[in-house]
Amino acid sequence: MEAERKPIDPFITWASDYCKHCYTCINICPVKNLKFKKDEMFSLGKCIQCQLCMKYCPDFALEVVPKPLPKAKAKSQSETKAKIESQAESSTMTKPKARAKNSKKARNVAEREHKVH
Ligand code: SF4
Ligand code: SF4
Repeated sequence: MEAERKPIDPFITWASDYCKHCYTCINICPVKNLKFKKDEMFSLGKCIQCQLCMKYCPDFALEVVPKPLPKAKAKSQSETKAKIESQAESSTMTKPKARAKNSKKARNVAEREHKVH
């Protein structure tokens, strides 16, 4: 039988029977939207519908169904999403321009060392 899902937000439902309180969703949420209050999950109303909590929950206890938002809220949420994505990208990758500069620098050093020897 399917566990009962409790709506905790306009987009999120949570199944207490599946949840083992591992805190993965709370830790992964980029806007710190999820909290436990006496073992009950609740939302602070800041959800940007990225679905990370749903994807990473090991017990399928969370379901996030994105719905259209009022224009102003959708704009601010898409800006937050873009900001989070660009931060994640810049922390994991060196920018192409910087990489080219670094390799040019390395070549110059190698050439200089070659001339000296
Ligand atoms: S969908 Fe994203 S923003 Fe919303 S509660 Fe889950 S992890 Fe947080
Ligand atoms: S990730 Fe899933 S099992 Fe873990 S606390 Fe969140 S809802 Fe519960």
